[in-house]
Amino acid sequence: MGHVSSIEVLEDRCVGCTLCVKACLYDAIEMVDGVAVIKDNCTLCGACVEPCKFDAIILRKEHREEEGVDIGDFKGVWVVAEQRNGEVHDVSYELLGRGRDLANARGAALGAVLLGSKLGDAAGALIEHGADVVYVVDDPALEHYLDEPYANAVAALIQKHKPEIVLTGATAVGRSLIPRVAIQVRAGLTADCTALDIDDEKGLLLQTRPAFGGNIMATIVCPNHRPQMATVRHKVMTALEPDPAREGEIVLEKLPTKLFETKTEFVEFVKDATSTINIADADIIVSGGRGLGGPENFEMLKSLADAVGGAVGASRAAVDAGWIPYSHQVGQTGKTVQPKLYIACGISGAVQHLAGMQSSDVIVAINKDPDAPIFKMATYGVVGDVFEVVPALTKKLAAEFS
Ligand code: FAD
Repeated sequence: MGHVSSIEVLEDRCVGCTLCVKACLYDAIEMVDGVAVIKDNCTLCGACVEPCKFDAIILRKEHREEEGVDIGDFKGVWVVAEQRNGEVHDVSYELLGRGRDLANARGAALGAVLLGSKLGDAAGALIEHGADVVYVVDDPALEHYLDEPYANAVAALIQKHKPEIVLTGATAVGRSLIPRVAIQVRAGLTADCTALDIDDEKGLLLQTRPAFGGNIMATIVCPNHRPQMATVRHKVMTALEPDPAREGEIVLEKLPTKLFETKTEFVEFVKDATSTINIADADIIVSGGRGLGGPENFEMLKSLADAVGGAVGASRAAVDAGWIPYSHQVGQTGKTVQPKLYIACGISGAVQHLAGMQSSDVIVAINKDPDAPIFKMATYGVVGDVFEVVPALTKKLAAEFS
């Protein structure tokens, strides 16, 4: 079943007050002889309905069988890229890596969407990483990420170009942005996918993600709506080696400035000074859980991490207890990490924690309970007290690494 919408102005009620014109994000309403007239570029978003104090605008939504031809209008795989100060986030390159395979399987182009201001050669970098075409919106209003302008811009581009698949990184920005876009384009959205594929028979996007607390893997399809939309976390997919010789097209898009209006004011960007090493980028992570017993004992983990050039991670129990900031949390509701070495200290190994670190190359678990579930996942297990094992390990490794 699909939504079919139409919009109508009741001429006998319209008093020509222009409130609807001001509310329309797309400049799609004009006044003709004192009556509102909806123009062809109306997206049926409905933003004009509520502001009309005279109930003169009617938006009708009916359910009816989807006409296959609508779906056939959508073509191409898109990655909504993320950048800061012209520097593209690695997750966008990773999505282009997987997106390249999906686009090839669909016999379609791979597009990237790049929003911002003073973007440098970010578009070129996206092409080097696999994009065939980059849709760029370069506007001072987009210098800093803000939900409304960014979501309006991406939705407008989707409505214009009709991609079949839209992928975004499940970063803090991606998680805030893409549900707002999905609502505007009336599509579903599968968050935090761990695998993406194309179904051989119908060409649908197979969106696989953990469900029921990570106990099963669910594969989700969106047969009736377009685009098919998914987010993927950092470090789950693999980026292609950049190829400076790759050629692609850069399309400069001009969007109505009204789309950039927002109720939110950008005040200041404050860098998180608490974590010197981003755990998502670290090769070695020493993580602590409830077994550490208190915030002061994270110093012990920091000494071990410093000795091996690593970063400190944590379980949610430690974060919830206020022992360490959220930016260090590993797991389903924290960061997904894939270091060469993950040392879990006083962490039981709940499925939600494992979901964020199970693809680490080598896992060492230190826990005083020999039956702790973390030992099932660990490459090496040490049954012992963290307060004895961690200082001893630090001493030994500090000597090795110095
Ligand atoms: P515990 O489970 O209490 O384990 C502490 C461990 O320390 C025990 O195994 C104990 O034997 C050991 N220990 C105690 N003292 C010592 C000692 N002196 N020496 C050695 N070992 C010792 N959790 C996450 O980590 N990340 C997430 O992102 C996350 N997301 C969640 C999302 C949802 C929707 C839900 C419901 C839960 C989520 N959780 C997450 C919570 C998760 O279920 C567990 O509660 C949490 O991971 C437990 O943290 P822990 O292992 O530190 O604590």
